[in-house]
Amino acid sequence: MKIVHISLCLTALACLLSCREQAPAPGEKSAAEPVMKYGVTVQSGPMDSILLKDYKPASSLVVPRTPVGKARFPVIDVHTHSDMNGVKTADDVDAWVRVMDETGVETSVVFTGAVGEEFDRQAELFLRRHPKRFQVYCDLLTEGIDAPDYPQRAVKELERCYQKGARGVGELSDKGAGLQGGQLPRDKRLHVDDPRLDPFWEKCAELKLPVNLHIADHPSCWQPLGPNQERTPDFQHFNLYGMDVPSYEELLASRDRLLQKHPRTTIITCHLSNQGNDLASLAKALDRYPNLYADISARDYEIGRQPRNASKFLASYKDRIMFGTDMGRDNEMYLGWWRLLETPDEYLPGRIWWTYYGLELPPEILKSLYRDNALRVLNWK
Ligand SMILES: [Zn+2]
Repeated sequence: MKIVHISLCLTALACLLSCREQAPAPGEKSAAEPVMKYGVTVQSGPMDSILLKDYKPASSLVVPRTPVGKARFPVIDVHTHSDMNGVKTADDVDAWVRVMDETGVETSVVFTGAVGEEFDRQAELFLRRHPKRFQVYCDLLTEGIDAPDYPQRAVKELERCYQKGARGVGELSDKGAGLQGGQLPRDKRLHVDDPRLDPFWEKCAELKLPVNLHIADHPSCWQPLGPNQERTPDFQHFNLYGMDVPSYEELLASRDRLLQKHPRTTIITCHLSNQGNDLASLAKALDRYPNLYADISARDYEIGRQPRNASKFLASYKDRIMFGTDMGRDNEMYLGWWRLLETPDEYLPGRIWWTYYGLELPPEILKSLYRDNALRVLNWK
C-alpha cells in the first residue's frame, strides 16, 4: 500500500512541476497559437481528461416547473415489453397495475416476444387477473423458414395465439439482420417484404390484428462511432456502421413494399418509424399509405428537441399517431412523458444529453394520442 501511495505522490509532483514548466508566465505568450472558439480562448485544464461517457453537466437554470401527477386523460400505452419490464409473476403484474393506476394508464399493450407455450403462459398471466388492463401481442414464428410449409405454419400459429388471447403481433423487429435477429448470412434473413410472409400479413388483416413493427433504427446507427456521432456512448451498442446490413433507406423501402402489398393490414411502426429526426419524411409515408400508423415510444428525445415542429406534426396526423413508452414501468418514467407532452416546461433533462421542451399539446390532440386512436385501431374483441 505504502509503495503505491508514494508512487502516486511522485506522479502528482512530477505533473505539478511539468505543468508549471509549460504554463506561460503572466504576460508571456504560449508557444502554441491559442485556439479561439466563439470568441473565447480555449485553455487546457482538468476537464480535458474527462471521458465523454462521464460528462454529466449540472444545470443551474431556474425556470417554472409544472407539477404533474396523473395523465390528463386515460392513457392506452401501445408499446411495452413483459421481459424488459421484468414481469414474471402475478405479483409483478399487480405491482405494474398499481403504477398504472397512480399515473393514469388505463391499458398497456404487452409484447410477449413469444409464440407457443410461452405465449400461452404470458397470456394467462396478464389476462386472467386483469383482462381490461392489458392486451397481449404474440410474436411471429420464425422456425424453419426455408421449409415449404413455413408460410402455413406461421399462419397456423398466429391463429392459435389469437384463440389464446393475442390481439396483435409484435414488436417485430428488422434492423437489417432480418426478423430473426442474430447474425445470419444475408440469404437466410427474413425481411418484411419476403413473399413467404404474404399469407401471414393477410391473416393479420383478416383477424384484425395490428402489427407493431420496428423497422430500421435511429439513423445515427448508420454513422460511425466517433466525435460526430449524434447519440451518446450509452447507445453505441446499437451501432451498425460498417456492418453487413442493408442501409437505413433500403429498410424503410422494405416497409413501404409491405404497406403497398398488404393495404388491409394495419402496421404500427414504432419509435415514429425511426424517422423522428425528419418528421416531414414520415409525413410523406403516412400520406402515401393509409394503413400506416406510428407510435412515439422511446422517442421522447426526438419530440422534446423540436417541440414546435413535433406539435404541428402531431396535430396534422392526429388520427395516425399513438402513445407508447417502451421504457420500463417506473412511476417517474410515466410522469416524464406527461410533463413532456402536457406542460410548457423548458429544458427538461432528457436522454442522449438532449434537453427537452414541453409540447403543451391541446386537449383534443392529447386525447387522440393517448387513447382515441388506440380505441379505434386496436382489436378490443
Ligand atoms: Zn419495443
